[in-house]
Amino acid sequence: MTSIPSYLATLGDPATVFAVPEVAGLADAELLEGQRAVAELRRRVEAVAAVFAGEIAHRSRRELGHTGLAQANGVRSAEDLIARVTASSRRDAHTLVKAAELLPAPARTDIPPAPRWWVVIGDAVASAAISVEAAEIIRTRLAQASEGAPEEALLDSATALIEVAPMLSIEDLATRASRARDELDLAGIAGRESALRDKRYLRVTQQLDGMTRINGLLDPESAAIVVPVLDAATSPRRGGPRFVNPDAAQRAEDLVRDERTTEQLTLDVLVELLRAGARVDDGKLLGDRKPAVRILVTQADLDRREGAAFFEGHPDAVSIDTAERFVCAGGAVPILFDGDGRVLNLGREQRLFSEKQRIALAARDGGCLMCGAPPSWCEAHHIDHWDQHHGRTDADDGVLLCRFCHLNVHNNRSRIRRRGGDYFLERPDPDDTLRRIPLPSRSPVRARLHSTAS
Ligand SMILES: [Zn+2]
Ligand SMILES: [Zn+2]
Repeated sequence: MTSIPSYLATLGDPATVFAVPEVAGLADAELLEGQRAVAELRRRVEAVAAVFAGEIAHRSRRELGHTGLAQANGVRSAEDLIARVTASSRRDAHTLVKAAELLPAPARTDIPPAPRWWVVIGDAVASAAISVEAAEIIRTRLAQASEGAPEEALLDSATALIEVAPMLSIEDLATRASRARDELDLAGIAGRESALRDKRYLRVTQQLDGMTRINGLLDPESAAIVVPVLDAATSPRRGGPRFVNPDAAQRAEDLVRDERTTEQLTLDVLVELLRAGARVDDGKLLGDRKPAVRILVTQADLDRREGAAFFEGHPDAVSIDTAERFVCAGGAVPILFDGDGRVLNLGREQRLFSEKQRIALAARDGGCLMCGAPPSWCEAHHIDHWDQHHGRTDADDGVLLCRFCHLNVHNNRSRIRRRGGDYFLERPDPDDTLRRIPLPSRSPVRARLHSTAS
């Protein structure tokens, strides 16, 4: 094929039939050089696009009303028109229009002369030295400082940023530009902080497919609290520090081997933390009525181990496995209905481990018997099948399992059995032979008890 530079030179020529280049045969250096050359070409094309966008915006300016170009074409704004004409996003169109405001416009006498720090950014776009996106970042960041900083300092900062922009990713440029802005206008930091804080939100929306979407923005302070916690929980996955402490090393190794994706793990950690937090809240954050997770299931479905169960307030069905696991950990309240669906009778709670029994389980097991997660993360798993035990619940019948391991036990149809004071996991191998895996206590105080027994 022809060389990359001559290929690129033909790109703007409508007489040449367009085809993407064959790059598999290129040497590494040629490949990278080609990518760089394409970026240069793109900056040029963007500058041209900005010029067009600027004129479209000018011809669509508000004072022209219905006769403006955008409205004459049936859309509200120049951005809408550009997005439609170019089949791109309104956001891209907006960037182009904003970049156009920076560009030198000698023919236009209706606009006041731009400050000099604007002019240098515009010149950099017009000479394809920086992309319109980079220009937008430099302009908006420095504009945030423009009231508190002298013109000369703004000009210096803009020049310095334009110089480094070609060597930086957009993210790195944004960081540099923010730093430059803060140095120019230290007094404005508090105001910018509170402006960011005002933008924070968390939205929870139920989707049609049964999932619930969380969507939000964290201001810097909230992020400083939340992100390290989630990072700490998943850091071995992301090549975090290597551990010298054998326990920490073991935990890191387990996490790397864990079958969950890092994103699933992150969510599970968030859910555990919320659960633990709700448990210790004394009513200040969540009010007097503690939120509880309730699951509704019919006796017949539970007996058949088949059917559907429902979380209170949630229309999508979940499995009987899940219902069993909830009954297992949280107990059950039988509700008797008559044939007309009226409540006849509300029974006593069954199979629920008392608060005192939970304290005893925590002391005895020391955490999740399967993975060692701390007691505060654990549910009490009832080792008998739910229908084998309607009345009294004994501490011997319960073991601590974290939610993840608890889920594993129920969904994989494993059983935990007790022999004397020892517990075992019984799980059928693929060839159906029953494997017995001992589940020793994690409790240091229990070990101490044994070693000091006379
Ligand atoms: Zn566990
Ligand atoms: Zn269970």
